[in-house]
Amino acid sequence: AHALVYLESRLRDVPDFPKPGILFKDITPLLADPRALHITIDLLAERFVGERIDLVVGIESRGFIFGGAVATRLNAGFVPVRKLGKLPWKTDRLTYALEYGEAELEMHVDSIPRGARVLIVDDVLATGGTASAAAELARRQGGVVAAFAFVVELDFLAGRSRLDGDDDGTRPAVY
Ligand code: IMP
Repeated sequence: AHALVYLESRLRDVPDFPKPGILFKDITPLLADPRALHITIDLLAERFVGERIDLVVGIESRGFIFGGAVATRLNAGFVPVRKLGKLPWKTDRLTYALEYGEAELEMHVDSIPRGARVLIVDDVLATGGTASAAAELARRQGGVVAAFAFVVELDFLAGRSRLDGDDDGTRPAVY
């Protein structure tokens, strides 16, 4: 509990970013604090120690920071999911709905071997649309979505209810 209180103190609430009416959780103070960063990566990784995770799928862009670090802890590889037009090789894409409008995510077509167990990582779970789109891209390649992990959950948006893991018996969502 102490650790979580400490981590929470390293988050900054920014009103009206990126648009009026949105209270943005800024994780950059947490990243800049060595102790907070270390604890965060420990907490994200610890529940999967001893479980088979082959690949961490990190969502652009803050999911790259946390996902990369978690992947090294779990001896897993890392696969980026990016916004449209950033990946150099052949991609699969998925358009998904945002609160206002839509967005498109891409993954390299050959990034996930059939049957690989993947962990989806991002910084913030809001409505869950982004993470469920990343999970869908992983599944299309035959990946098994073992779990999701986030640093911050905006629970009033109920994003958790949109996330499903593929395994019975494994936690569908982890925060
Ligand atoms: P969702 O698709 O509504 O769950 O939005 C999640 C995506 O938007 C993630 O990639 C987050 O990085 C980003 N996001 C949404 N709200 C915030 C916030 O308050 N702080 C940081 N990122 C956010």
